[in-house]
This record gives sequence, C-alpha cells and structure tokens, in this order.
Amino acid sequence: MRKRLIVSAASALALLLAVPASAATPSPGAAGVGDPYYPTYGNGGYDVSHYDIRLKYQPATDLLEGTTTILATATQDLSRFNLDFVLDVQQVLVNGRAARFASTGEAELEVTPDRPIAKGSPVTVVVRYSGVPGEVERDGYSAWLRTPDGGVAANEPVAAWWWFPSNDHPTDKATFDVSVLVPDGTQVISNGLSTGQSSRAGWTRYNWRQTKPQATYLATLAIGRFDVRTDTTPSGLPVITAYSKDLGENDGAARASVERTGELVDWLSGYFGEYPFTSVGGYVPNVPTGYALETQTQIFYSPAQFARGANTSVVVHELAHQWYGDSVSVQRWSDIWLNEGFARYSQWLWSEHENEGTAQELADYVYSYYPADNAFWTVKPGDPGADHQFSSAVYDRGAVAVQALRNTVGDEKFFQILKGWPAERRYGNATVQQFQTYAERISGKKLGDLFTTWLFTPSKPAVPSAGAPAKAVAGPASAALPQEPRSWKKIQETNSLHDNGSGHGHGR
Ligand SMILES: [Zn+2]
Repeated sequence: MRKRLIVSAASALALLLAVPASAATPSPGAAGVGDPYYPTYGNGGYDVSHYDIRLKYQPATDLLEGTTTILATATQDLSRFNLDFVLDVQQVLVNGRAARFASTGEAELEVTPDRPIAKGSPVTVVVRYSGVPGEVERDGYSAWLRTPDGGVAANEPVAAWWWFPSNDHPTDKATFDVSVLVPDGTQVISNGLSTGQSSRAGWTRYNWRQTKPQATYLATLAIGRFDVRTDTTPSGLPVITAYSKDLGENDGAARASVERTGELVDWLSGYFGEYPFTSVGGYVPNVPTGYALETQTQIFYSPAQFARGANTSVVVHELAHQWYGDSVSVQRWSDIWLNEGFARYSQWLWSEHENEGTAQELADYVYSYYPADNAFWTVKPGDPGADHQFSSAVYDRGAVAVQALRNTVGDEKFFQILKGWPAERRYGNATVQQFQTYAERISGKKLGDLFTTWLFTPSKPAVPSAGAPAKAVAGPASAALPQEPRSWKKIQETNSLHDNGSGHGHGR
C-alpha cells in the first residue's frame, strides 16, 4: 500500500513537471462556426463524435424530458464552450463534474466547466433538460411540429434546438443513439436502425441507432401512432417506412409513393454509386406542413405531398439527398446548391426514365418559363443569401446549371462526375468551389465561366443550357415557350408546398 502511494505521488509530480511553462491560456470557444448566413450556428472549440439522446415524452401535454450525453474532443484550450439549445436546462456535467451554465442569445447554452479543458482531450458533457418544445418559438416559429398524437422534429437549417443540445452545424457530424420512452400504443421513429424496444408499467422505450456520420439538422424524431413496416431491398438494405394511422384520404397515395423507396434507392444507385448508409426509409406523420426533408435514412414527408395523388418525384428528390446533402454535406449554408441543384436534377432524370420529359426539355422549359425581368433570375444559386436559401431558383436554375455542366463535359464525363463526387467526399463536407475543381479534374475542362454564368450571375444567362441561341430572347416569353413537359407540374408541386408560414426553416 505504502509503495503504491509513493509511485502515485511520483507520477503526479512527473505530470506537473510535464506541463510546459508556455501553455496557452484557456479561452472561451466561439459562439458560432462562422457560417456566412448564420454566424451563431454551431460552436467553436470542440468536435463532437457521438450523441446519446435519452428522452421521455408525453403526447397529451407535449412535455419532453431528457438527458443527452455528448462525446467530444477539445480543439483548443477551453475555459468555456457553447451548445445550441432552446429548452430549459436543469443540470450540466462536464467530465463528471457539475458545470455552470447559462442560456443566452437565440439558442446558446454557455457551459463553464469547473476546470479548463486541454486542447486534444476528450470531453463528456451530460445535459439534463425539459420543456414543451411546441411552445418554444425562435424567429416566430417552433421547429417541433405538433400532431394530434405526438410531435415531430424535422426542419432545415435548424431542428435540433428543440430536442437535444448540440453543435448545430453540418460541419460537425457524429453518430447517434436515440432512446425515447412513450406511453404504450405510441411509436417512436428516428434515424438509422431500430435496436429494440421494451415495455413496462404502461410505458414503452424505443431505441434507434445511426452508425454513420450524421449532421445535426438531419437527425429526426417522430412520436405518434404509426403503422411501421420493415422490408429489405433486393440488395439487402433494410427499408423502414411508417405512416400515421390518421392520414385519411392521403393514406393510399402516401403508401403508393413511399413504399417504392427500395426500388427508387436502387435506381438512384445506378447514377450516384453505392448507397452510403445502412438503412433507408421514410415516414409520413399527420402534420399540417407542406414540405419534405431529407432526414438521414429516415425521410420526413408531409401528407400534403400526396394530396394530389402518388408522388414518386418527391421520393426520388429526398433519396438523392442521401448522397447529395447527407453523406456529402454543405461546408457552409451558402453551398446549398450542392444539395438542391442535384436533388432537383435527380427528379429530371426520373422524369426522363418515366418518359415524362427529358432533363434537356425540362432545362429548356425552365429557361423559357421565366422572362429575363422575373426576380427568379436575380437569385444566384451558388450563393443565394439566407433569405433565398430555399428559393425555387436554387432548385430549378440550380438543375439547369447541372444540365449545362452535362452539355459542356459530355455524358460520359458527366455521369462519371455524378457518381464519383459522392465517393470522393463521402461522410464529409464540401464547397461549390471544391465541386468545380473536382469536375474540372475529371473532365479536363476549365469550368469557371460555366459556373459563373449559371450559379453566380444575378441575371438571366444569354444562352440556354445547351448553348444554342436563346429562342426566348427573340420575342415575348409566351410565344417562345416550348411545350410543357408532362412531369413539370408534379415537380413544381414538390416546390410550392411551403405553407407553414415561418420565415425560414422550410426544409426540402
Ligand atoms: Zn431538397
């Protein structure tokens, strides 16, 4: 015993002596990652590797109580750091010790550990909290969607604030375990695969696991009464779909669309390469919103997407995001074209496959549909601004840009780029500039003028995507408008269902 004590004291002395005299003074982590559109989103000073989210939810009252455990590594000597969160916090522990905390700003939770954290060292943060997420508003809305039988977290660019504390920016991806206790008869849907459930004394606990890196805005949670279906694709990929038991007359059209997930993900793999995740699926809760969102592996669909009948186009769009958006995510929110330009283009490929209009016909139609003086052309898809991040130009002009790329490099190089990029950047982040550099490398062509014309010029390009003289320039737009592709209205419908009235955060 005595000997061990001596060794211990010697070790402690060695550690003390090992601290360099010039060690950096610990300082607070930044309150944001410096995103040009949303300067306070995310935080500086640490990198998260895993979220363990353990919740209890009562559908009748919307009361959410939880404990989230965050595993992170300090990227600087930290005196304090922030998380992004809006519910009421009762306790924060950092490496097992009680920390001081304060809620500030729009969604900042400032955490001051009782001793500084050294750069490079692991950090375990435990946050205990509670709240009624449907009643907590920021910027005039709550991303927590209340349903008659529960609630749903699915929004863009922020949704996590309302159900777990996080480093809420796409550049800090992590794995997730989500475990939720709900009254018997209620189901819980989240990302990845179900790892089982157990019931006791009137309550059931559901467990979900996402083992691949996931951005915080792509984490989703749905609590309610669902009909859950499981299957596998011919290639063995698990497919999980879920439908509110309360979809009424939209039920058939929703199932006739989302039940084709396995078929459509296999079809998209032909263009985008190997599917990057370990499961795929989608759910349709009974929400009054209009949008769909590419929540990772478990896609969120509003019932309104199916109010005019089956809609495989929106399923293709959200599945395309699993490669373009989820596996390869924006470096900054200004890079949104890398998500939406390609997801919209996948709908054009699907239209072509279904003989409802080729991608070129759709590109020509977009070009002619909007006259040069339409505000549509003032939005730069490559840097649309926070207020126009989800404007139709990012989608439609963004997809014309993809068609213009195809016409410039030729089909062989184009499809090589389309498939190669998600493999090149799998599970990472990227900028529009990095995509251009990649496309130039694969095609052997300089593409600066092309990208400037289609993505970074706030006016209508003088020639359409195919490079031929623009017919629309010669006369009134109505006279020059080509025949409407048969898929046009359906694709526009997936664009025009932004009806939840909030200023931002209508995901797609
Ligand atoms: Zn989208």
